[in-house]
Amino acid sequence: MASITIDDVTKRFGDSGNSVVAVDDISLEIKDGEFVVFVGPSGSGKSTLMRTVAGLETQSEGDIYIGDALVNQFGPRARDIAMVFQNYALYPNMTVQENMSFGLKMSTDLSKEEIEEQVTSAAEMMGIGNLLDNKPGELSGGQQQRVALGRAIVRDPNVFLMDEPLSNLDAKLRTTMRTEINRLQNDLDVTTLYVTHDQTEAMTMGDRLVVLNYGELQQVGTPLECFYRPANQFVAGFIGSPS
Ligand code: ADP
Ligand code: MG
Repeated sequence: MASITIDDVTKRFGDSGNSVVAVDDISLEIKDGEFVVFVGPSGSGKSTLMRTVAGLETQSEGDIYIGDALVNQFGPRARDIAMVFQNYALYPNMTVQENMSFGLKMSTDLSKEEIEEQVTSAAEMMGIGNLLDNKPGELSGGQQQRVALGRAIVRDPNVFLMDEPLSNLDAKLRTTMRTEINRLQNDLDVTTLYVTHDQTEAMTMGDRLVVLNYGELQQVGTPLECFYRPANQFVAGFIGSPS
């Protein structure tokens, strides 16, 4: 568990003559154990912000802290963040067990038994304890998504980043997985940053909502605050506030 501080972070792509400002001077404090949902139109900088927090991109300006540690110079592994994407590529030739233990084997010096224990416990938490010997191709989309989540929690990370993790699933499965993710986040009490463009997810899943447009922060507040007291017309329109 950890708090996250995003301090005047800007991310530009391209050279100075022809650059895109993907994230524009964002400051935000996320509390230890908080679930924060990020929304905004396509191209508003949500993924870039996530990738910057994860250490997959380096910000052009500003600082990122995890807990009290300034992590600007830390690579992704040292940040101890687990990410789940829309395209949660599992290794097709590995079993579920192998998919889930691969990262642990690479990044820790846990014994074989300890790894097995952690994988079993994460798999049970995700309701896939009976699928450990199966290959991803033998699983449904929902089961594969559970493996991807299991693979993320098996490392017991400080922070979860989820970038539209459910957008490839059908509506019924999305509803189930939404509940699962909230339950998991509650049980593990892990600080979570969650990107979505789904209205229901935005309004129901998080403690707070962050609304972005053109890389700029439009509003930060509880979902109800953003809905009933939108900071500007953009937020009102995007969230569908009553007028
Ligand atoms: P979102 O996730 O909200 O759809 P992104 O963070 O993917 O938005 O993109 C924000 C902006 O940054 C867009 O204009 C996008 O084209 C640009 N962008 C993102 N990644 C790159 C990249 N690697 N190189 C150049 N431009 C990028
Ligand atoms: Mg994106």
